Amino acid sequence: MAITVKINPYSAVNARVLRAAQALGVDANYQRLLTTCWREVKVALPILDDRGELRVFEGYRVHHNGVRGPYKGGIRYHPEVDLDEVKALASLMTWKCAVVNIPFGGAKGGVTVDPKTLSERELQTLTRRFTHSLKHVIGPYHDIPAPDMGTSPKIMGWIMDAYGLLHGYSPAVVTGKPVNIGGIPERNDATGLGVAMITRGILTEHGEELTGKTVAVQGFGNVGSFSALHLSRLGAKVIAVSDVSGILVREGGLDVEALAAHVGKGGSLRDSGLGDFDSAGGKLFDLKADVLIPAALGHVIHEGNMRRIKARYIVEGANGPLTPEADAYLQSQGVIVVPDILANSGGVVGSYFEWAQNIQVQPWKGAETKLELDRFMAAALRSVTVTAKKHGLSYRDAAFTVGVERVYQAALARGH
Ligand code: NAD
Repeated sequence: MAITVKINPYSAVNARVLRAAQALGVDANYQRLLTTCWREVKVALPILDDRGELRVFEGYRVHHNGVRGPYKGGIRYHPEVDLDEVKALASLMTWKCAVVNIPFGGAKGGVTVDPKTLSERELQTLTRRFTHSLKHVIGPYHDIPAPDMGTSPKIMGWIMDAYGLLHGYSPAVVTGKPVNIGGIPERNDATGLGVAMITRGILTEHGEELTGKTVAVQGFGNVGSFSALHLSRLGAKVIAVSDVSGILVREGGLDVEALAAHVGKGGSLRDSGLGDFDSAGGKLFDLKADVLIPAALGHVIHEGNMRRIKARYIVEGANGPLTPEADAYLQSQGVIVVPDILANSGGVVGSYFEWAQNIQVQPWKGAETKLELDRFMAAALRSVTVTAKKHGLSYRDAAFTVGVERVYQAALARGH
């Protein structure tokens, strides 16, 4: 029987921050600074639904730490969004931006809603209401949202428009926008491309090649589908992908290009005809793949299923997919875990490029953008692997050490 595990995600992140801060000798007052959110906003979002009835949703925006630059982080629409989850994700953004060394602080936002149950009109009304409630919280040099689970470029376009009605034309207020209003084509797949680059880099670090390695991916949304696509383009064999409906397996390797095209046109894993479908998506964890990429929800690998994992590498496409217990257990079994704040940081780097081009009112060449992404990801991987080797740390502890050190030094430089 499946076990439901509810762990406070914010406490779990803070435990990791404190471990790094204490190892670095950060004093107790600064430890408090690094584990405290600067601003927590909760808003009520009343909208009239399509039947003319009033419905009230809850929305959140949390600023965790802004010493290295404007706050940056996605907006999630999901029924399980709550304040602790948003605080945890905001904190992860602080460390992620620091690890990948871009000039942003950490933020996150969300609305407790299942967007699939709303019509397009209801979704747009809710998004405009949320933006209005945050009109003094977000801004191009203050706090820049982006898509996350359940949100999309279209929703970012509505946020830009609603903010612009109040403050004037401001494309840099949001990233992950449609390309015809200031988005950049490279942002859409940047997280998945970054996951693929980091997977290849970590294998190389361990004397292995990506070519021919088997990969299983949980989630076939933005992060999962582009991770699978880029890994297969780089020579890996993606043997399974899963989503909320179930799992699609093909031991000889899925045709990910065809699958992504099929799902992109509104098709499902079940009706793709590209592999064997099973509605029990959890079977993904039983597969003998070299690399497992959880790219859906948080805390999906926990005490109840961690012993089933057979992968040798776990690369965290999602934010916080392992509970602390599962993380410790898997590392004790010799599984190499690449943490979210390194593995999925390509998305925020892509967002940084979009923001910079909006601010400069100057588009970059697409090829330059890809090379720059590669450069940022390679530098982040190098910082983490060097720190891990130097201090004998796991990649997660090393990534937090790199991030905490950079944020701490910035706080000191600003006279905090
Ligand atoms: P998305 O909404 O595009 O896709 C989510 C996918 O997860 C969907 O395929 C959905 O069917 C699947 N899913 C949901 N519940 C599932 C379950 N129980 N089992 C298996 N699959 C399930 O979301 P996304 O933007 O791809 O984000 C996924 C994760 O990556 C989140 O943790 C998010 O915070 C993180 N992330 C996203 C970005 C980004 O740029 N989008 C960047 C960094 C991190």
